[in-house]
Amino acid sequence: MVDLINIEIQFFIVFLFGLVFGSFATAVAYRVPLDIGWVSGRSKCPSCEHSLGLLDLFPVLSWLLLRGKCRYCKASFGVGYPAAELLLAVMFVLVYWQFSFSLLSAILMFLALLIVIMTIIDFEHYIIPNMLNLLMFLVGGLYCVIIDTEGLHFVLGPIVGLSIGYSLRTLMWVWKGKEGLGMGDVKFLAVVGMFLPLEIFPTFFFLSGMLGIAIALLWKAMGKGERFPFGPALGMAMFVCVTFPAVHYKWQGFVASVTLNIIGV
Ligand SMILES: [Zn+2]
Repeated sequence: MVDLINIEIQFFIVFLFGLVFGSFATAVAYRVPLDIGWVSGRSKCPSCEHSLGLLDLFPVLSWLLLRGKCRYCKASFGVGYPAAELLLAVMFVLVYWQFSFSLLSAILMFLALLIVIMTIIDFEHYIIPNMLNLLMFLVGGLYCVIIDTEGLHFVLGPIVGLSIGYSLRTLMWVWKGKEGLGMGDVKFLAVVGMFLPLEIFPTFFFLSGMLGIAIALLWKAMGKGERFPFGPALGMAMFVCVTFPAVHYKWQGFVASVTLNIIGV
């Protein structure tokens, strides 16, 4: 049935779905750290607590039309909201492009939703809630079953992820004398171990390192200090590796040569 719809229209519909779920993601990301239920009650302006209607919550467009301000109290909402909505829409389109109309797509879109929620929360509060890590871990289990991963991976993947995370955390403590990698990031690496085959780990760490540097520079430019959230870099790198496994095989040689250059061999 889906095949009957023009491919451009399919992508457009997926994009719209991404925007709507992106709007949902911003609402959840606002509620979770405050311990308000995930979906309970209507959305309110965080500043004046006025209930927000459909016209205020329309993804991206509302933000543009209201110039990023609350219709009632004129409090600023920040560019983060529409940016998160657009980000999820793009991620949805990328998943659909790779895996079309399938169960795998549905799972990866759900993962994308959780990664965007994690990104917003980490950007605003410098934490990755345990609940979110656990949920992503379970989605990872489902993903392994769908793509028929061998049984050993269910144990080995997360253990290797956790061990690398914990070692990095310890190394940074010793090296810098302060926390470089939060426990939330360490636990997220168990999620990464669930989704990625071990051979893709080097590519994953290379990508997250590059993204991490980009976030650190952005944080400096915005005058937010030395401490920056690393979860978004880890999440996006994992998303790229899961959605485009070919990236790994194309970049393998490139990553190897850059790494050798850096360590001066
Ligand atoms: Zn308001």
